[in-house]
Amino acid sequence: MSKPVVVLDPGHGGYDPGAVAYGLQEKTLNLNLALEVAGKLEGIKVLLTRDRDVFVSLADRVALSRRAGADLFLSLHANAGGGRGFESFVASGLAPGHKAFEVQKEIHRQVMAALSPWAIIDRGMKQAPFYVLRHNPFPAVLIESLFIDNEREAGLWRDSGFVNTLAGGVTRGIYAALGRPPEPAEVREPEPAEPAHERLYTVQVGAFAYIENARQRLQEAREAGFDDAYIYHKQL
Ligand SMILES: [Zn+2]
Repeated sequence: MSKPVVVLDPGHGGYDPGAVAYGLQEKTLNLNLALEVAGKLEGIKVLLTRDRDVFVSLADRVALSRRAGADLFLSLHANAGGGRGFESFVASGLAPGHKAFEVQKEIHRQVMAALSPWAIIDRGMKQAPFYVLRHNPFPAVLIESLFIDNEREAGLWRDSGFVNTLAGGVTRGIYAALGRPPEPAEVREPEPAEPAHERLYTVQVGAFAYIENARQRLQEAREAGFDDAYIYHKQL
């Protein structure tokens, strides 16, 4: 059986930054998220409409999907314009029962479940006449993950642990939409034990911008016998 084909479409790029707020550019967030999802997807042929900071026209994004015979097309965006939360879209005017609705439902549900520790507002499953959805011959969904012009949500986009969890939710949603058993939710790092004393002295062995590096160091520490080592997420 040939591998399913998934096209990930990080919105904007090059001279088109997308939304800009709090020192963040949407194009960069979209790309980082797409690369994280691509890195997690196993047993699937993953194509990216862009894998670096370049401008790609909407027509070229759809053309790639068309050439690839995509089983699933997912466009990744971050929102702006005064609001909060997560929302997902399929093209307006799709016939009831279209496969895109199922893809939307699975991705939406898995993302909201993954983000539950942050109590993110669910803005709902919507329809809109976005070009990359409307002109796509394959089941196509667009997600708008949080508002970068909201101070709290911009902060979450800066938190690599949050972005990794978001990518995990998207990944499980893609698996579910393709009819594969969803990956188990990632085990959260254990909280430090209740302090037995008034004061607790923490020994830090590293600070990392990327969760993978932190996990690597955590594993080294545990292998060295420090069973109570843990990862502490600090918001910058
Ligand atoms: Zn966008």
